[in-house]
Amino acid sequence: MKRIYNFSAGPATLPTSVLEEARDELLSYQGSGMSIMEMSHRGKYYDAAHEEALANFRELLSVPEDYDILFMQGGASGQFGLVPMNLLGEGQTADYINAGAWSKKAIAEAKRIGNVNVVADTGSEIPTRQPRQEELNLTPGAAYLHCCSNETISGAQIKEFPVSDAPLVSDMSSDILSRPLDISKFGLIYAGAQKNLGPAGVTLVIVRKDLMERAPDTIPAIFQYKSHAAANSLLNTPPTFGIYLLSLVTRWLKDQGGLAAMTEINDRKSNALYSAIDASEFYTGTAVPENRSTMNVTFRLPTEELEAEFIKQAAAKDMDGLKGHRSVGGVRASIYNAFPEEGVDALISFMKEFEAANG
Ligand code: PMP
Repeated sequence: MKRIYNFSAGPATLPTSVLEEARDELLSYQGSGMSIMEMSHRGKYYDAAHEEALANFRELLSVPEDYDILFMQGGASGQFGLVPMNLLGEGQTADYINAGAWSKKAIAEAKRIGNVNVVADTGSEIPTRQPRQEELNLTPGAAYLHCCSNETISGAQIKEFPVSDAPLVSDMSSDILSRPLDISKFGLIYAGAQKNLGPAGVTLVIVRKDLMERAPDTIPAIFQYKSHAAANSLLNTPPTFGIYLLSLVTRWLKDQGGLAAMTEINDRKSNALYSAIDASEFYTGTAVPENRSTMNVTFRLPTEELEAEFIKQAAAKDMDGLKGHRSVGGVRASIYNAFPEEGVDALISFMKEFEAANG
């Protein structure tokens, strides 16, 4: 069966071997005569997948014991609201870094709940970038500091995380598990699954245990981190099929050599693309070199007409999903963990060909 090179920003390409495994056991999971999606979330088969996914995350990211790993729903957008609902006390201020479209959405949601201080704003700068530490106008005694580790639309990625006295909260939807992290530097991390983890519908949360206690009792249990933690992410019916796929994707990551190996591969893939961009006058990268994302490589061509033609011709060569986000245009190559290196090589060859024909 033909698989094309899928550069989509998310939902995004998954490892072919994982899809094959899921296919092979779709109708009768481990000889049970049922699909795992047809089974009770409190039964032994599902339980093993759930526990494996949790254990794999803990191992891959070396998550310390004083942190809980949660599987929630509502996407990263749900977390935009849940973070302030749980962590931003009355009369307190939450610090937010605005580095682009996703930071901005998180800020808008937090403002519904309480006081927000935007400590730095590079949201509308082109070339796009993440603010530097010395630019942050931090609030003394802030409830937390929020950042978006990788702005998926613009392709600006944090390379050195900001520091402050407040717990650091990060939206890692588009670069979770792409590199090792020192979890102890964070209060809370969240990520929608549909880029680096698995199918849409599951949201990963890693949260320091003491922070969960901040939640006021007036918010419904389903919106409280602590109730999900107490129930081992089985407070209600979780997205079982998605979590099962997370167990397979994280197992695949371990087989690849874990996050150290993944970083090497991701650096190789993204460096190859950025080198091709830098070697040409025809293509222009849209993120500053210090913040170039290893996951979403964004660039422009001399005109919008050429960009449309580039995307069209690439699609005809089985390279799909290269159109930049509708809000910014241009070209975006999303090359998450599961995106094959041959696909990057194919794109680079096509870029050279296209430039030769149109440059
Ligand atoms: N944050 C980032 C960085 C994202 O890339 C996205 C989705 N593209 C979101 C948040 C929103 O995620 P969801 O659709 O899961 O709510």
